[in-house]
Amino acid sequence: MTTATAMENGDSGGIEEFRAATRAWLEIHCPAEMRKPFASEDDVCWGGREWVFASAAQKTWLERMADRGWTAPTWPREYGGGGLDHAHAKVLAREMQVLGCRPPLYSFGIWMLGPALLKFGTEAQKLEHLPRIVRGEIRWCQGYSEPNAGSDLASLQTRAEDQGDHYLVTGQKIWMSYADKADWVFCLVRSEPDVKKHTGISFVLFDMKSPGVTTRPILLISGKSPFCETFFDNVRVDKSNLVGKPGGGWDVAKYLLTHEREMIGAVGANQVMRPLGQVAADQLGRDSLGRLGDPVLRAKIAHFQADEAAFRLTLERFGEEAKSGRAHPAFSSVLKGRGAELNKRRYELLMSAGGSDALEWEGARSNHGFLARSWLRTKANSIEGGTTEVQLNVITKRILELPGA
Ligand SMILES: Cc1cc2nc3c(=O)[nH]c(=O)nc-3n(C[C@H](O)[C@H](O)[C@H](O)COP(=O)(O)OP(=O)(O)OC[C@H]3O[C@@H](n4cnc5c(N)ncnc54)[C@H](O)[C@@H]3O)c2cc1C
Repeated sequence: MTTATAMENGDSGGIEEFRAATRAWLEIHCPAEMRKPFASEDDVCWGGREWVFASAAQKTWLERMADRGWTAPTWPREYGGGGLDHAHAKVLAREMQVLGCRPPLYSFGIWMLGPALLKFGTEAQKLEHLPRIVRGEIRWCQGYSEPNAGSDLASLQTRAEDQGDHYLVTGQKIWMSYADKADWVFCLVRSEPDVKKHTGISFVLFDMKSPGVTTRPILLISGKSPFCETFFDNVRVDKSNLVGKPGGGWDVAKYLLTHEREMIGAVGANQVMRPLGQVAADQLGRDSLGRLGDPVLRAKIAHFQADEAAFRLTLERFGEEAKSGRAHPAFSSVLKGRGAELNKRRYELLMSAGGSDALEWEGARSNHGFLARSWLRTKANSIEGGTTEVQLNVITKRILELPGA
């Protein structure tokens, strides 16, 4: 069987054969425009019912990757995924990185809901939702946080009244990223008010166009409104859209959070951009030995790059341990805490490296302040998905088992 045929059949073959075939496929099928780093937020494809593609190339790239299931490479093929094991998926990611291919799709469905559905969903739920996530047809948002339930998430009060074959959901959520653009929500609701707080929570899915859903965008310092406060007023949710057991939503929520934390943590290592030292040297000049002229910034960049390399290796180790079922369940807190802080440091250095130009907020020269806005956006890395303080609490309690933690 040729490698091309092996790939078509989902038999991804030996690693080196797969690497060569993947590289060849990417070289032919990834449009040139999709091999440039993102230059603005508009370059990122989120998909969904109302998505307007930024270019024909963005659409083609998504369709080609989705056809192979490579938007979700490790998901089973029967749900539209690529059916790759961890080792082959790593090769695909590496080859995309080598060729500079953009991720074809950003998706809370892929990063968060999908893994939870694969573990807790019914067969009908998997068949209904996973293939649409793979193809970027439905955009999902996350309805966890409430005005009085952030770090202490289990205090959430949005209630779901049992009406026999359906629930009526009423309450308020906050900080819901892209809730105004999403098609569906995965949402935590209190279905049993009279039991211990962790046990009365259910995990439900519903269409954001359902009667009774209102979203209100919140303006941030970056000048954007990427998240919303959201109100539910007697929203009907069919019980077929309950994931896991009634009142058993906390287990689903926690499992999903480990994936969210790994995803946010990975931003500490997986940024495709020019090396920091080069950016700084081009902007600020070199010394007589050709090194970055500013010795203080040079030392900071070297320190950062050593930490980044160590973090990347830690991520790899975690991936290997997870594959063999040996990963500590709380390790996602290490990745999240460390990755968020590293990404914040990276952007602080980029701002130092860019000099005063980096602060430009408007105008085509700076892609409408892309760097400055991205820098401000990283400030939220240590809050979203659980704050750094909360991750440190988890690490001291569940991994280090410190007394009194
Ligand atoms: C960019 C961004 C996107 C987000 N997207 C979503 C989303 O899509 N959906 C969603 O549901 N939520 C979302 N969130 C909300 C996010 O999950 C919460 O902001 C986060 O969990 C913290 O909750 P809080 O804001 O209520 O802060 P609080 O819990 O009120 O915390 C305030 C401060 O107190 C500290 N603190 C609290 N408890 C402890 C403790 N026990 N020990 C030590 N320190 C503590 C915290 O570290 C923090 O510094 C998003 C947040 C951001 C910033």
